[in-house]
Amino acid sequence: MARVYVGQMNHGFKTGTQSTVTRPRPAAGNGNGYRGRFAPSPTGALHLGSLLVAVASWLRARQHGGTWLVRIEDVDRTREVSGASRQILNTLAAFGMTSDEPVMYQSQRDESYQQALQTLIDAGQAFACHCSRARIAARGRHRGRCQLPARNPTPGTGEAGPESRPAWRLLAPEREIGFVDALQGPFQQHLRRDVGDFVLKRRDGLWAYQLAVVVDDAAQGITEVVRGADLLDSTPRQILLQQVLGLATPAYAHLPLLLDEHGAKLSKQSRALPVDAAAPLPALRQALRLLGIPGSHLPATATTPERLLAAALPAFCLRQIPTARSLCSATWAAVDKG
Ligand SMILES: [Zn+2]
Repeated sequence: MARVYVGQMNHGFKTGTQSTVTRPRPAAGNGNGYRGRFAPSPTGALHLGSLLVAVASWLRARQHGGTWLVRIEDVDRTREVSGASRQILNTLAAFGMTSDEPVMYQSQRDESYQQALQTLIDAGQAFACHCSRARIAARGRHRGRCQLPARNPTPGTGEAGPESRPAWRLLAPEREIGFVDALQGPFQQHLRRDVGDFVLKRRDGLWAYQLAVVVDDAAQGITEVVRGADLLDSTPRQILLQQVLGLATPAYAHLPLLLDEHGAKLSKQSRALPVDAAAPLPALRQALRLLGIPGSHLPATATTPERLLAAALPAFCLRQIPTARSLCSATWAAVDKG
């Protein structure tokens, strides 16, 4: 079987002796082994930036003859907007995209996350942390296992007593973790220096995004993650978790973030306008243009989202997408015209 390694470009990626560079596993093979996903948080309606990621991940999966999955990342229930999950799924359907398998909801995955945490604790990689935010802020980063505070914490230190519920953190290793992104090229981080020991489960009992996404990508058999470049910084943490948990590392392609004309990220929290599910064609056409699909592949005769996606599919290519971490929509439009 011919294997295509996505992301292995000739970047002259050099590694030190303390580095671990992950070679993405085959994203495509001969086609049907490809599994991609779109994983929105239900914090509001889909806007053009998130539509762009959905469309890119969908095209990538279809181009490989693979499987496209939707996962609702509702792990942080404090941020969830009531009804947003249903609205997002309905909007995706209106744009011609539905999950090939049942939609996964992170809010139903506690048991799997707990198992993963237990594995990390048993391996001596995860530890209970009673540090207060103020204490961590004062130290800059959390580095190294924390000692249990005294039973009667000193007033004013902000320490929680050992009887309080701890957060759980992963011990950050003293080495670089790197990977080659299909769009952004080589990227590496020294987790202990740059990030510190990171949270797996919060003191309030909520699971951290990093753990949930790694467990879920593995459970769904994802071979390539296509997502926004705001998550590029998270990827070494996720690769570390994959390594410690003995899970495969997917290939990664981080799309430039779409910024508004003021340079602000389009997000559900900002005032980015939601895309109109009742009239999907204009926004879908715009998203496809931003992804580098030439006008010749966006015919006026394509009068449904399904037809427009089918017409665009043969012209989709990661190399046509700008490789910057972020671009404003006006710049993308200019690149597109050029
Ligand atoms: Zn601590």
